[in-house]
Parts: sequence; C-alpha cells; structure tokens
Amino acid sequence: MGDILLIEDEPELADFVVRGLSKEAHSVDHLPRGDDGLQRALRRKYDLLIVDRMLPGLDGLSLVKTLREKHCRVPVLFLSNLGELDDRVLGLNAGGDDYLPKPFGFSELLARVNALLRRPVLEAELTVLRLGDLEVQLVKREVRRAGQEIDLKPREFTLLEYLMRYSNQVVTRTMLLEGVWGYHFDPKTNIVETHISRLRARIGSDMIQTVRGSGYMIHASRTNP
Ligand code: CA
Repeated sequence: MGDILLIEDEPELADFVVRGLSKEAHSVDHLPRGDDGLQRALRRKYDLLIVDRMLPGLDGLSLVKTLREKHCRVPVLFLSNLGELDDRVLGLNAGGDDYLPKPFGFSELLARVNALLRRPVLEAELTVLRLGDLEVQLVKREVRRAGQEIDLKPREFTLLEYLMRYSNQVVTRTMLLEGVWGYHFDPKTNIVETHISRLRARIGSDMIQTVRGSGYMIHASRTNP
C-alpha cells in the first residue's frame, strides 16, 4: 500500500511501528538518525515520512524544514514526547502534516497514517496552484488574482491552499479543521466560517461556494444566479 520511511531512534518503538505497519501491508524502511533520514528522503520518493522530533544527527523539525525548502512535499507525521500544544504548532509550522504525541496506541497511528496516505498525490515539484485567474505561489507564499497581489494572513493562506488542492470538490468542515488547523475534534466554534468569510472578502466572493449541509467548494469564477 504505502511506501513509508520511519526515522526514529528508539529501537523498541521503531520495531513496534515497523512490524505493525508491515502487517497492514505497508512497506516500511527504518533509519535511526536524522541526517541519514534526510538524505534518504531526498533521494527516494516515499508516500509518507514518520519522523521523531528528537533524533541523533539532525532533529526532526530541522529535517522537515530542510525537505520543504527543497520543495519535497511528501506528507510527514511527527512523533514526539513533546506533546504540548506549542510543540505541536512548531511541528506543523515546520511543514509537518500531522502530529502524534507519545505514547500512542497502534490503532491511532494506523488511522493517522491511512488518512495521510489517502490525500491526493501531490507533484513533488508543485509550487504554483492555479484556478481561473487566481494563482497561489506556494514557496513565495504569494497570492494573485488577475495579476493583482492579495495579502493573506498565514492561516488564510493555508486555508486557500487546502481549498485549491481540492478545487472543484466539496471540502467538509471536518477536513478543514484537520487539514488547516490540525484539530481532530470539533472545537464548537465558528472558526472555519469566520476564516472562509475573511478569505472571500480578500479574494472575491465569487469563487468559494457554500455547499449547504456539506462544506465548501472553490471553483473558477462563474456568474452566480
Ligand atoms: Ca527520539
């Protein structure tokens, strides 16, 4: 199923993860050092990286930051003893896609792994997303509509990027909470709605459609009835 690279220095935990995921028909390579892990991830195309935060040679955050700087977009699941919120945010800001605090149960790991593997396959070198006259530069983090630059706050940018990756498809509130905010629970606030309306105010209200009872969909501008 998935081609996975695990970068983890605790032998027992690594063994547990490798055996468990292999049983689920994933193919898992394991390296205990951060510097070796980075080299391998740059050389070989994996479907998913599972990266411990504290590693010999190179720490997990620096490893993933370096991958992202080199435009490697492979999904990353961080593992860490540092389960505090700040650390989680650091991990996600460094370019991680999800974060699993230790200790964790295997079923939880498997659920996160499968969720990350189900995401649409991204071109490794993809740096620009385009939809109609809207253009999003992922590396420079610039947004233009009809050539006009639009200023977005970091979270608005992430939200727009997420919608663009699923353009012309319905994106649910749950997907946005997970993909944009990293929440695996419903915070029972209108955080999604608020950011959608801010984003509409900035890019123009004609592109992001509310799909009643389902979520949102971004599409190229068309005349609304
Ligand atoms: Ca470690």
